[in-house]
Amino acid sequence: MPELPEVETVRRGLAPAMEGVRINEVDVRHRGLRWPIVRDFEKRLQGKTVEGLGRRAKYLLADLSSGDVLIMHLGMSGSFRVGHDGREGKLAKYHHEKSKSTTHDHVVFHMSNGATITFNDPRRFGSMKLVPRIKLEQEPLLRALGPEPLGNEFDAAMLAAACAGKKTSLKAALSDQRVVAGLGNIYVCEALFRARLLPKRLASTIADRNGKPNERAEKLVDAIKAVLKDAIEAGGSSLRDHRRADGSLGDFQHNFQVYDREGQPCPNCKGKIKRIVQVGRSTFYCPSCQK
Ligand SMILES: [Zn+2]
Repeated sequence: MPELPEVETVRRGLAPAMEGVRINEVDVRHRGLRWPIVRDFEKRLQGKTVEGLGRRAKYLLADLSSGDVLIMHLGMSGSFRVGHDGREGKLAKYHHEKSKSTTHDHVVFHMSNGATITFNDPRRFGSMKLVPRIKLEQEPLLRALGPEPLGNEFDAAMLAAACAGKKTSLKAALSDQRVVAGLGNIYVCEALFRARLLPKRLASTIADRNGKPNERAEKLVDAIKAVLKDAIEAGGSSLRDHRRADGSLGDFQHNFQVYDREGQPCPNCKGKIKRIVQVGRSTFYCPSCQK
């Protein structure tokens, strides 16, 4: 499942083809995504200009000249391809292996600059939803999301306040989208390793009795921001079921220090990386470096 760096990579790949460009035509080939694509979808998009392409957590937000916002989520296996003047380009920054089959092309946007943007999703957990911009703040998909981890407002004080009194592990707390938005299994494991904190450690131990941050909270916030920045710079990670469309992006998986490295040497102490299961997901960590 793509996390924040992969979605940001997709956003950066799509922005040049979409921003400031009119949508001439929308071709919906399959309405049965995670939620059915509404009947007036095409009508509300055709002839409208994409004024900006933003991101909130793992959602892409296309701001339209009509006052609508198109909220897009990649789900488990969604990807975008960009082609120009009928020629399919290699701009898909986050690309599912099965997406080579055009039978999974569900939505195609024909842009006024000659670009075609194709949404492909073999497993159809992805979604496309239109919401009036004035109702965006009440949108259930976005309303409960915690702070953007790369935003200025996300700091040690905020994370400590969210974790204070929590009886869950740090791993579970950081995976909770209400605590901080956009992190998943990979980047939570990597951030905890960089901060040298045990995934099983109680979340409340990064705050003092008054909910104020301690040194652990500071280290953890720094680690989260650093790992996300590094991953975005590398173009996200190409995961087990995913493959890049070209050779230039999506290399962060080679920089994983603990994730998916069970039994391999820790880059810091050369001890063995351990895997445990927490809340149904694999957690990777170094038992000697992380306390
Ligand atoms: Zn180690």
